[in-house]
Amino acid sequence: MRYTVAVHELCEFTAKQGDLDLRFTPAPTALEGMAGHALVAARRGPGYRAELSLSGDHGNLHVRGRADGFDPALQRLEEVKTFRGLLDKQPASHRRLHWAQARLYGWLLCRQENLDRLEVALVYLNVADQKETVFTEQCTAAELRRHFEQQCERFLAWAERQLAYRRARDDALRSLAFPFGEFRTGQRPLAEAVYKAAVAAGCLLAQAPTGIGKTMGTLFPLLKAMPTGRLDKLFFVAAKTSGRQPALDALDRIGASAPGLPLRVLELVARDKACEHPDKGCHGDSCPLAKGFYDRLPAARGVALAASSAFVALRQAQVRDVALRHEVCPYYLGQELARWADVVVGDYNHYFDLGGLLHGLTQANQWRIGLLVDEAHNLVERGRRMYTAELQPEVLAQARRSTAAGAHPAVRKVLDKVRRCWVGLDKAQASAYQVHDAFPVKLLAALQQCSSTITNHLAEHPAEPEPALLAFHFQALQLCRRAERLDAHSLVDISKPQAQGAGGPRPGTSTLCIRNLVPAPFLGPRFAAAHTSTLFSATLQPMRYHADLLGLPAGHLRVEAASPFKADQLQVRIASHISTRYQHRATSLEPIVALMARQFEDRPGNYLAFFSSYDYLQQVAGLLALRHPGLPSWSQSRRMREAEQRQFLARFTETGQGIGFAVLGGAFAEGVDLPGQRLIGAFVSTLGLPQVNPVNEQIRQRMEAMFGAGHDYTYLYPGLQKVVQAAGRVIRTPSDRGVIHLIDDRFGRGKVRGLLPGWWTNAPG
Ligand code: SF4
Repeated sequence: MRYTVAVHELCEFTAKQGDLDLRFTPAPTALEGMAGHALVAARRGPGYRAELSLSGDHGNLHVRGRADGFDPALQRLEEVKTFRGLLDKQPASHRRLHWAQARLYGWLLCRQENLDRLEVALVYLNVADQKETVFTEQCTAAELRRHFEQQCERFLAWAERQLAYRRARDDALRSLAFPFGEFRTGQRPLAEAVYKAAVAAGCLLAQAPTGIGKTMGTLFPLLKAMPTGRLDKLFFVAAKTSGRQPALDALDRIGASAPGLPLRVLELVARDKACEHPDKGCHGDSCPLAKGFYDRLPAARGVALAASSAFVALRQAQVRDVALRHEVCPYYLGQELARWADVVVGDYNHYFDLGGLLHGLTQANQWRIGLLVDEAHNLVERGRRMYTAELQPEVLAQARRSTAAGAHPAVRKVLDKVRRCWVGLDKAQASAYQVHDAFPVKLLAALQQCSSTITNHLAEHPAEPEPALLAFHFQALQLCRRAERLDAHSLVDISKPQAQGAGGPRPGTSTLCIRNLVPAPFLGPRFAAAHTSTLFSATLQPMRYHADLLGLPAGHLRVEAASPFKADQLQVRIASHISTRYQHRATSLEPIVALMARQFEDRPGNYLAFFSSYDYLQQVAGLLALRHPGLPSWSQSRRMREAEQRQFLARFTETGQGIGFAVLGGAFAEGVDLPGQRLIGAFVSTLGLPQVNPVNEQIRQRMEAMFGAGHDYTYLYPGLQKVVQAAGRVIRTPSDRGVIHLIDDRFGRGKVRGLLPGWWTNAPG
C-alpha cells in the first residue's frame, strides 16, 4: 500500500515554518484565479503546456499534482500565483511555500521529460492590473531531485505511521460490532440503506422518525463501510451546535464498546468559540499563539494524535488543552487536525460554505469521503443563507465615517461613489421593494472599483485595518463575487425600510441583496465531491422538494424508516371548526382557548402550544389567563437569552402542569426532548405557512417557473415541515402517550394530511 500525497499538501507539511500569518490578505476570487492562470498561459508562446499532471515516487510515497505550465522553448517550469495588493508585503513564509512547490514540480517534470536542467519560475499575477512579477532560478535535475527527496524524507516516517494506522483502523472497523447488540425498529433498514449507499458510492435521502436512533443508525454503518468503500474520512455535519453532541456521544459509545479501535474523532468549532485572543489579529506580531505556530505545530500535532492505536476523542476541550500546552492557537490546531482525523464532527458551514474547510481539504487531497448531513431539512434555508449576499446602508455609513477625518482620501472617494450610485438607485425606485433583472451595472462597477482601492489601501496599511472599513469591504466583495455567478438560482432585490415620516425613507437607506433561492447549483457539486452522502431527518416530506432544492444527483436513493412508535400512542385531532388565517384571527381566539382548557381538564399535564407569531401567541395566552386564571401558562418571548430558554423548559417536569406558549419554527419547536410526562400534548394553531410578502412572492414565481410548484415549494412544504417538527416533540419514547391538536380547517385537506407522518393514523378520517 502506497501513501499518496498532493504536492501542495506535502509542502504544507514540510515547508511551513515560523508564524501563522493570516493578516488580511485580499485573495482573488476563484474565477479571478482561473482567469489569471488562463491569461498567463495565453501570453506564452505556442507549444506552452499548461496544467501538466505530474507524479513521482519516493519509497512508499506517491507524490502527485498539476503544475501550472511548462515553456519548452525556455525550458522553464512556471508556478503561477494570482494576488491582489502589494507583493512586497507578502509574508516570507508564503514565498517559501511557493518555492517549495515549484521545485517539487521541477523535479517531477525533469524526471518525466528526462531533463538534466530546468529554469524554475514563480509567476505572480496581480489580478488588478494583470501585471506579472517573475522570479526565476536555474536548477540542475540533481538539485531538484535532492530537494524532492529531502521533502519526501521529512514526510515519509509520518506517512508510514499513517499507513500502518490506516491498516489497523480498517481491520478494526471490519470486525466492529453494533454497540447496543440489537437494532431498534426502523434502525436496521436505515443502517442497511446507509451502508449500501456507501458501498455503491451513492447519495441517500433518508427520512427516519425520532426515536429510532438516527445518529447511531447512520454513523455505525458508514464506519463499517469505510474499509470496503476505501473511505479516507467521514464527515458528520450538523445544522446547530447542539446537533454535534449526539454524534460525539454515539462515537464515544462506539469507542467504549470496541476497546483498541483506532479512530480519531475531531470536533470542529467556529473561530469565535475557539479563539483565545479575540482582541488580536491572527499573525505573529499580534497574537502570541500565532507566533512560531508552525515551529511548534509538529509537537502539538504529535501529542494530539499520539495514542494512534486507540480511540482518540479530540473534542474542543482536548484540542484546547493540547494547543495551550504547546502555545499554539487552538482554532488553527483544530484545522490542522482535520487532515489527520478519521471522523470530523462539525457544522454545515465546514463542508457546504463557499470556503468550507472540509470541502477544501477534500478537493486538495482528493479524499474519498463519506458525508452525513444531520437534520437535513435545515439545509435548504442554511444553503440559501450561505449563498446570499447583502449590502447594508449602515455598514457603508460606518465605513465612510471611519474615513471622515480625511486620512484616506482615495478610499473616501470610492466609498462616496458607491453611495452616490446607491442613492441614485433609491431615488429611481418608487416602490418599497424592487427586483432587478441584473445587478445594477453602475453600482457594480463602483463596488468593484471600491474593493480594488480598499484592497490596495489594506495592503499598504496592514497593521491597523479599520474594522468598519473591513466590514464594508467583506460585504462588497461577497456581493461582487455573487454577482459573478448570478443566474436563475438567485435574484437581485432592493428593499427600502419602512417609511419614516412624511417624505418616506431617505435615499441610500435601502438594503441591496443578491438573494439565493435555489441553493442546488452550489450544494450539488458538494454532494458530487463526496464519495457517498446521506442526508437524514425526521421531516423530509416530500423528498422531491429537498432533492430539487439541494441539488441531489439524479439516481440518488431514498428510504423512509419505519417509526418505532405505534399509532395508539398518539391521538391526532384536527380542529376543523377553527380557521387561523390572518383575517380570522380575532374570531379564532375564543375557540382555541376553549379547546385548550377542555384538553387540560380531560388530562392535566404539560403541553406546548405553537403559534405563527408572537402577537398571535400573546393574544391567545392573554385570553386563556383571563378565562382560566387557574390554568398555569408561560410564554416564549422575543430574543430570549439561553438562561431564559432553560427556565422555560425547566417548567416541563414529570409532575408539572401547564401550557408553554411558543412560536412555530422557534427555539422550542425543534431539538427539544421532553419524554414521558414532561410533555403529553401539543396544540399547533397554524399551518406554519411563511408570510405572504414581496420576497416570498418572488420565490413563489421562481419555484413555479423552475419546478412547476410555486405555492407548495414556497409555502406549503416549508410550513408543514415546521408543524411536523413541532408536533414531534410529544412522542419521544415507545412508552410515551400523547395528543396533538392541529388547529385549522386546512389540516383536514387530503393534500395537507398527506404531508403528515404515516404513523399518525390515529386521526379522524
Ligand atoms: S488565538 Fe485567536 S487571534 Fe490568536 S491566532 Fe488563534 S484565532 Fe487568531
